[in-house]
Amino acid sequence: MTDNPSTMDIAVDQWKGHRLPDLPYAHASLEPYVDARTMTLHHDHHHAAYVSKLNSVLQPFPQLHDFDAEWLLRNPRAIPRAIRTTVHENAGGHVNHSLLWQVMTPKAGPLEPGPLSEAIDRDFGDFDRFKERFEKAAMALFGSGWVWLASARLDGGALKIYTTHGHDNPISNGHFPVLVADLWEHAYYLKHGNRRADYLDAWWAVVDWKAVSRRFESKVNA
Ligand code: MN
Repeated sequence: MTDNPSTMDIAVDQWKGHRLPDLPYAHASLEPYVDARTMTLHHDHHHAAYVSKLNSVLQPFPQLHDFDAEWLLRNPRAIPRAIRTTVHENAGGHVNHSLLWQVMTPKAGPLEPGPLSEAIDRDFGDFDRFKERFEKAAMALFGSGWVWLASARLDGGALKIYTTHGHDNPISNGHFPVLVADLWEHAYYLKHGNRRADYLDAWWAVVDWKAVSRRFESKVNA
């Protein structure tokens, strides 16, 4: 290639955009708890579509190209009104699913004693009561959304369980999400039909408590 005076113009046009992260395990590896077909549709199609829509709506706004999706969720006022809702929905879809893949694993084990288990005992009584509260919140959500275990402040503070609608994420409220489960029907309908409780019951078996604990310890002074 020879030097080309228009190289810089080309570079500006070549924004790579947000990227769909690879699944950190094989699509079929969460079987029988989460089925391969759901994982394929969920990651390769649903998540991919959020990334693709986010990129297409941001393309004409180079002033927003350098920010990651979490920043876009934290700074809605920096986003032009005409695209604010679309950016919020699709950046949320991207951030939430990116976290979801990280909190599941084919090599799941129990939550080991440590700062996270101590915080769970402190704020919910014990692990079983935490699970009960998490499931109860998940079952009470009407329509599509997510159920979260989140810390109320970035620098510590109580753990909270709550649901959000659509792809809303706790970081928009200054909270730090520790664990999340997807409550959209696309997360479970193929295998479980409308039985959200059955899906959640199976889902606990793939929660990566090591990753969730590391995440908690990285941000929260328990
Ligand atoms: Mn989903």
